[in-house]
Amino acid sequence: MVFNLSEQNSVANHFLAELRDKNIQKDRMRFRKNLERLGQIMAYEVSKVLHYATKSVDTPLGKSRINVVKQQPVLATILRAGIPFYQGFLNFFDEADSAFIGAYRQEAGKELTIKLNYVTSPSIKGKEIILIDPMLATGRSVVDSVKHLVKWGKPEHIYIVSLVAAPEGIKFLAEELSEKYSLWTCAIDENLNSQFYIVPGLGDAGDLSFGEKI
Ligand code: URA
Repeated sequence: MVFNLSEQNSVANHFLAELRDKNIQKDRMRFRKNLERLGQIMAYEVSKVLHYATKSVDTPLGKSRINVVKQQPVLATILRAGIPFYQGFLNFFDEADSAFIGAYRQEAGKELTIKLNYVTSPSIKGKEIILIDPMLATGRSVVDSVKHLVKWGKPEHIYIVSLVAAPEGIKFLAEELSEKYSLWTCAIDENLNSQFYIVPGLGDAGDLSFGEKI
């Protein structure tokens, strides 16, 4: 199952347009804020399919019954580009436990490998996990992250959430993941270029959020 937010007209498209715009994206604070805003919107979308339980709330005037999320999902994100997008999810799932994964790209000619150098996670056994990675390019960092995370136990479901996804990454997930997952993205773009960047994409989400790496 692939959910694509930009198939529907909404204000979310304004935030995505600003993230992609090569002039507006120079405003680093606005760039991070737009990632956070879309993180909140995607958290809201994913929240609709989580498990709910009915709760009774005492108001000053009586009792109100309402369905609330039964168990907060575990939020997992891939550093460093994931941080502002993840913040949007944390704003909405404010009691959630979080997992963090440090990953970097190693390009050698036409080959790209992803190295994970830091993974920390709470228990995920039987839980719903939201894996937050804004740029789903080759899909390798997501697949490697899932393979590491499941060492902490078998989750009930993995919601993989990206801002922009490339068809190559979507295909790679389908080929490589045997775990139960669904993909949620704000947009699906054309393809990857020779440096494995998404086209038209928006550039390097980590550099635009936090400055160029050396
Ligand atoms: N990571 C990015 O930040 N941008 C891309 O286009 C691909 C991966």
